[in-house]
Amino acid sequence: MLPFKLVYSDAYYLPIGQHVFPAEKYRRIRDRLISTGVADASDFIEPEPATDQDILLVHKPEYVHKLKTGTLSQREEMELEIPFSQELVEAFWLAAGGSILAARQSLKDKVCISIGGGFHHAFPDHGEGFCMINDVAVAIRRLQRDDKIRTAMTVDCDVHQGNGTAAIFAGTRTASALLPSSSPSTVEQPAHAPRGKIRGVHAGDVFTISLHQHNNYPVSKPPSSIDVDLPDDIGDDDYLAWLDNALSSGLRQFEPDLLCYIAGADPYEEDQLGGLKLTIEGLKKRDVLVFQVARARNIPVMVTYAGGYARHVEDTVTIHSNTVIAAKEVFTA
Ligand SMILES: [Zn+2]
Repeated sequence: MLPFKLVYSDAYYLPIGQHVFPAEKYRRIRDRLISTGVADASDFIEPEPATDQDILLVHKPEYVHKLKTGTLSQREEMELEIPFSQELVEAFWLAAGGSILAARQSLKDKVCISIGGGFHHAFPDHGEGFCMINDVAVAIRRLQRDDKIRTAMTVDCDVHQGNGTAAIFAGTRTASALLPSSSPSTVEQPAHAPRGKIRGVHAGDVFTISLHQHNNYPVSKPPSSIDVDLPDDIGDDDYLAWLDNALSSGLRQFEPDLLCYIAGADPYEEDQLGGLKLTIEGLKKRDVLVFQVARARNIPVMVTYAGGYARHVEDTVTIHSNTVIAAKEVFTA
């Protein structure tokens, strides 16, 4: 039995047909974890869908209304880049409920992984890039509303910048969360990773970190608290140095009550939508690093999976399954 829970439902499946997003990955990750003995059935807990009220903590009423009534414009449907249906709406409400449950559970067990979610390209008033609802943002706002947390930090390691998350939390500052460091952060580049660029400004109760390939979707990247714009083809060592640097810089400036780790599998060298060169082993080291930092500072960490478009779906399943193994290693020790 794992020392933490895995949030999962068969209904996480996104009904989008043949698509570069392998919607069946969630079930395959679950099956892999059980068949390899990493987890057993009792480690999994089932989420409830988020309520409309939860969704409205982040998303605009007009947008939510359009989703519930199926009245997105043609252009809005196109921006989603996945075929709209009421079943799809339900799957996203469930993903948001899964993230809320994972966030809550992480406060009890120090870590919790939702085998889904991480839809970081969803904005308050529109969805894009396969993301309809920003489940992580909804979870943060729900836990804040319930007084379970005051502050949170997102650590987005998907190869694509977390534009929706950055926009949602840009410039939001609550009176209770004033911090001394609201000025633009200056971050030293890791000595052994001379390329790449780190930029950042922070003002708010949620601190957003995004490590992503600069030369990739989204074209326009709204500022996160810390953005690490990585050059093409960066490998394991450079990536891990940048991540280490961004985490220490972020945690010098900000003390989160919850860390939301968006563990995209698409920085992988064989990814069809990514241009970085991380290996499967490097991606596992990335997971271990995030978990070690969170554990050392006693910050609860909730995980969502975001993207992963490896040429062979099996690799995506391996990378995501390794995240559970990494958590098991770090949180059992
Ligand atoms: Zn991605």
